[in-house]
Amino acid sequence: MAQTLQIERANQLKEKPDVSTVKFGTVFTDYMFTNRYTPEHGWSQPSIVPYQNLEISPSCQAIHYGQSVFEGLKAYKNGDEVLLFRPDENFKRMNQSLSRLSMPEINEENALNALYELLKVERDWVPGGPGQSLYVRPFVFADEPFLGVRPSETYQFSIILSPVASYYGGQADPTSIYVEDDFVRSVRGGVGSAKVSGNYAASLLAQKKANELGYEQVLWLDGVDQKYVEEVGSMNIFFVRDGELVTPKLNGSILPGITRKSIIELAKYKGYTVREEKIHIDDLANDLHSGRITEVFGAGTAVVISPVGKLNIHGVDHIVNDNQVGPISQELYENLTDIQYGRAEDPFGWVVRL
Ligand SMILES: *Cc1c(COP(=O)(O)O)cnc(C)c1O
Repeated sequence: MAQTLQIERANQLKEKPDVSTVKFGTVFTDYMFTNRYTPEHGWSQPSIVPYQNLEISPSCQAIHYGQSVFEGLKAYKNGDEVLLFRPDENFKRMNQSLSRLSMPEINEENALNALYELLKVERDWVPGGPGQSLYVRPFVFADEPFLGVRPSETYQFSIILSPVASYYGGQADPTSIYVEDDFVRSVRGGVGSAKVSGNYAASLLAQKKANELGYEQVLWLDGVDQKYVEEVGSMNIFFVRDGELVTPKLNGSILPGITRKSIIELAKYKGYTVREEKIHIDDLANDLHSGRITEVFGAGTAVVISPVGKLNIHGVDHIVNDNQVGPISQELYENLTDIQYGRAEDPFGWVVRL
């Protein structure tokens, strides 16, 4: 059922920044989407309003018990067109996250249409420079003022937009990774496969430890045996082994990335063998040492593909491909970003053009 979207105009628009100097996640556009859920009327108040603070009570349930989920995707500019990459997948995954936290699901079609309307209003905010995009952040949180432990009765759903430069400001330098074997990010049966805010809170201490040891990111092992490779920070992980692509099989605690899924489909389409496997950390160390593994990269919306140049496993540094970007990582990066920016044909029907 199509809903009528209210649009409240801003009195004054902000000056657009020079996106090439903007720090990720610090600048927001003129408008945002909001909707509110009540038990009586469901998600019944969709509107586009000037970007503004939200009103919440100090007893707001999201603060105390963490019912809070989010998504992340990007809008790209090509000439006069604004392109989105598989936005339906984001709202589908948001509903899976909502359901896991006992939060009311949204209507995916209404959410997509609201996003399209918001982007039409904010067209001029989609930056057109190389590697630039408009980052889209949908999120839902519990806003009932109540300190009892049970699902909140009311919720807020918003979408905010933030212009971003290329994550690495141009050509990506390979990143360094510390394999964490003390802390875990999530466990089977937990919320690791849902995009919930608390997963990030749980990861920050290990991230700090890795940074102090001189590494940029954390590679998580599974929370049960602490032996199997799961994922990196906010990215899934891929290996090139004997010329084939290998990535950890989804197991309920790994976040099912849309970039991960797209790389698997794209690589298969290009004729690569792709394996989704349970990867033992000792096998990974051996395969890096023997040279069977020639490339390692992370995959996520923010970075698309982030080559890994160094991995520390149980205290031993393994250098990958001389700390250079490998040919398959480069090829997949170019192919995928060419589709996202509309520079190449899209044989999969992934791109939505506005
Ligand atoms: C969002 C996210 C990813 C990447 O997912 P994409 O859909 O590819 O952006 C990977 N891991 C975690 C923990 C995430 O939150």
